[in-house]
Amino acid sequence: MEIKILNGKAVAKQLEENIKIRAQKFYEKYGYKPCLATIIVGHNPASEMYIKMKMNACNRVGLDAVKIEIDEQADTQDVLDVIEQLNNNDKITGILLQHPIAKHMDERLCFDSIAVHKDVDGVNTTSFGKMTMATDAFLPATPAAIMEILNFYNIELEGKHAVVVGRSPILGKPVSMLLLNHNATVTICHSKTKNLQQYLKLADIVVAAVGQPKFIKGEDLKEGVIIVDAGYNKGNIGDVDMETCLDKASAYTPVPGGVGPVTIAKLLDQTMTAAENNKIKKLIKK
Ligand code: NAP
Repeated sequence: MEIKILNGKAVAKQLEENIKIRAQKFYEKYGYKPCLATIIVGHNPASEMYIKMKMNACNRVGLDAVKIEIDEQADTQDVLDVIEQLNNNDKITGILLQHPIAKHMDERLCFDSIAVHKDVDGVNTTSFGKMTMATDAFLPATPAAIMEILNFYNIELEGKHAVVVGRSPILGKPVSMLLLNHNATVTICHSKTKNLQQYLKLADIVVAAVGQPKFIKGEDLKEGVIIVDAGYNKGNIGDVDMETCLDKASAYTPVPGGVGPVTIAKLLDQTMTAAENNKIKKLIKK
């Protein structure tokens, strides 16, 4: 069986080329660049690295990016105040609050205080509701990336059984809703699922969003399965033990070079869309 590699870099490249053109047109028309504001709380090295990658990607496609640093000792209200300022700042197109923030802070409250039209990372409860109802909404970046990859490689979802392992608010849960909205039959598994293997065996598509290196093993999968490995663990290791899965898979996303690069590209894509939407709304109001 020939195995198809679902190369995220190719998907991201195409997305970035499209954003570059839109950003250039936007700049020529309005004289400024859309701007992504990223808020980071504390000094988590992984978060610092992700933010650097996102800001570099903004520069690459012609978007502005600013970083706001908040002290780890600050409280929820301090984060809410920063978000409110950004919500009210016309120069800021999109707002990203880098997860995780300090443990003593109310992350959900902070996410939900981001204005929906600036919620380009799709973390707001309202954005989640709109996405689930399949109305216009910004999607969480990683689930959006997964759908983009499946679409890019013409992977048929209708009637397929998708098993999502993980139910986090930013990944497992929303990607399950998106797959459902694309007419897949979806099983969501989590740490309390009994006999996970019995579900995995039935999967046409597996989405691994567990946060444990090499968690999904080939022996648990059926022949011809499509594997989306959203995992990203220390040492560039995914949540799928790909060596044991290659015999079973008909297609898979590699780690690195699969879901990761597309996640960043989707964030930029949605930032660009937020700027375009905002301009359209202002024109309608006039
Ligand atoms: P998370 O918040 O820790 O969620 C992990 C999920 O896996 C939870 O729902 C948990 O179940 C479930 N789980 C844990 N152990 C399990 C087990 N033994 N059996 C079945 N389910 C189990 O993690 P996350 O933020 O969703 O991230 C998941 C992975 O994706 C990580 O590797 C992360 O680095 C990666 N990620 C990648 C990107 C990217 O851009 N590529 C972006 C975000 C995350 P409970 O709900 O019951 O606890």
